[in-house]
Amino acid sequence: MRITGVATTLLRVPLRQRTITDSQSSVDAVEFLQVQLETDAGITGYGMNWSYTPGLRAAQVLVDENYAPLLRGQDPLLRKELVRRMFFSNHFVGRVGAARVGIAAVEFALWDLACKSVGLPLWKYLGPCRETVKAYSTDGGWLSWSEADLVRDALRLVARGFDAVKIKLGRPDPREDCARVAAVRKALGPKVRIMTDVNCAWNLATARAWGAKLADLDVFWLEEPMLPEDVKGHAELARSIPVPIAVGETIYTKYAFRDYIESGAARIVQADATKLLGIDEWLEVAALASAYNLPVVPHTNVQQKLHVQLAAATPAVMMVESCYESINDIWEEPVHVRDGHYTLPQEPGVGLQLTGAVLAEFRVG
Ligand code: MG
Repeated sequence: MRITGVATTLLRVPLRQRTITDSQSSVDAVEFLQVQLETDAGITGYGMNWSYTPGLRAAQVLVDENYAPLLRGQDPLLRKELVRRMFFSNHFVGRVGAARVGIAAVEFALWDLACKSVGLPLWKYLGPCRETVKAYSTDGGWLSWSEADLVRDALRLVARGFDAVKIKLGRPDPREDCARVAAVRKALGPKVRIMTDVNCAWNLATARAWGAKLADLDVFWLEEPMLPEDVKGHAELARSIPVPIAVGETIYTKYAFRDYIESGAARIVQADATKLLGIDEWLEVAALASAYNLPVVPHTNVQQKLHVQLAAATPAVMMVESCYESINDIWEEPVHVRDGHYTLPQEPGVGLQLTGAVLAEFRVG
């Protein structure tokens, strides 16, 4: 099998729900870069990457101008070598960020071809360890909501079958954060897991002071309390508060995960294949976490179908985030959450193919 064509499409898909907010972002649409690889075997591989804000144009240019010439004529099963070549072709302009995001989009398409060439969905290709995947909901808990809306929505999610929900923190006064978590805890009772997510808004002093108070509310984890580059700060925080710290959605390399894990700075590993160099590096991070007996809970917003498949083949995964259900139908054969668990896709491949209708309606430029 040889790659005969590389095509990219940039899309901006509006969320069909209220604008959502965390301490860093206000989101009403998601940008996608879709990568399509044609082969002489008649199989097409699809990959994608995503962003909240415009910026994937940069990744698109890198795929079109740097990576496509490296890919044409090559055997897609030589994936790890092709990723290495793409990485070093422009590592002076982006060892992380746009370059990596573009490589990951291609890497998923290469995996898609490998899975389709043997007629298996990704999770069966990798070797399954389970047939359903536990979900937790991040499709609520937004920072701009009133406390009453927060409580009402958390009750709705629990009524739907979720037993774990996440709440965004990072309001200007952390006392409000704690009061909101307390209100949700009171409404849900002691059995539902409540996770909290600061999206990097705190410094060490704030995280120490308020992280300790979250422990009294039986918070299951504190996510991204500080900037991801500050491994030392996270390690200090982990030594001073009992709430487990979760990080990963803005960590781009296995080496950064190694530093977090070895220094005791993270107890929940939220590796995201769309931020790493793709599935191969995600599997390496999951293996690293497994060797330290740490649970992996992949970060996910639009890429559930990918991470649900990785979870079904990775014993270290505890559960997978459920978010942006309002645009779940942008995918060919989307996965669904029923009774708090994800269904698994049965069609061959990685499953990152957007529908033709979405490609036609939301194409940018
Ligand atoms: Mg998060």
